[in-house]
Amino acid sequence: MKLILLGAPGAGKGTVAKQLTKLDGSVQISTGDILRGAVQAGTELGKEAQGYMDRGDLVPDSLIMGIMEGRLQEDDCKSGFLLDGFPRTIPQAEALTELLTKLGISLDMAVDIDVPRDVIFDRLCTRRTCENSDCQAIYNIKSMPPKKEGICDKCGSAIVQRADETEAAIAHRLDTYTEKTAPVAGFYEKLGLLKSITGTSSDVVVDGIQKALGN
Ligand code: AMP
Repeated sequence: MKLILLGAPGAGKGTVAKQLTKLDGSVQISTGDILRGAVQAGTELGKEAQGYMDRGDLVPDSLIMGIMEGRLQEDDCKSGFLLDGFPRTIPQAEALTELLTKLGISLDMAVDIDVPRDVIFDRLCTRRTCENSDCQAIYNIKSMPPKKEGICDKCGSAIVQRADETEAAIAHRLDTYTEKTAPVAGFYEKLGLLKSITGTSSDVVVDGIQKALGN
């Protein structure tokens, strides 16, 4: 499948993407994971992106399109992809449309995962992430803690609170989402590609996506 997963930070895009990859081998592409990996590796991209990310601001569109132009042409995308956290602005959505046309790829759907803001705020404040950039497994200290406190079940690295998941940064990220990213759903609605799903459970969302795809 070739999907875009839209929705606020904390709406569950990453969890849904991971579940979907198991269904047909589509690959999850998270621009947030790619950027955090670059910050940890200390690359030029990471150095440029870090300040924006720590403040909860969006990284400039040109940097994101530079990443995605290469990433979408990698071999593993041929079996399908789930775009998680991209596009996040109208200019990114426009540039993606142009890029996909150039590559001869057509999207199946853009899924907007709709979750109430108070649920999202609570989720993000209690979310923890594996600090290993090759893992980045997600936990929640209330609903899904690791077996051993502070240690990733999957790779044994430390799990940490992201710099952009303090209360102030979260509030700012959600405001940025409302202003810049929420309109992207309208962009795909006009193209007849939008499917909105309200749901706080990833199983419900995955089910809704499969039904919408006719599976
Ligand atoms: P995420 O893990 O998707 O919440 O992304 C973490 C941070 O990375 C965001 O708050 C932005 O600073 C940056 N980021 C990720 N994806 C994008 C994007 N498509 N456009 C701009 N900034 C992005």
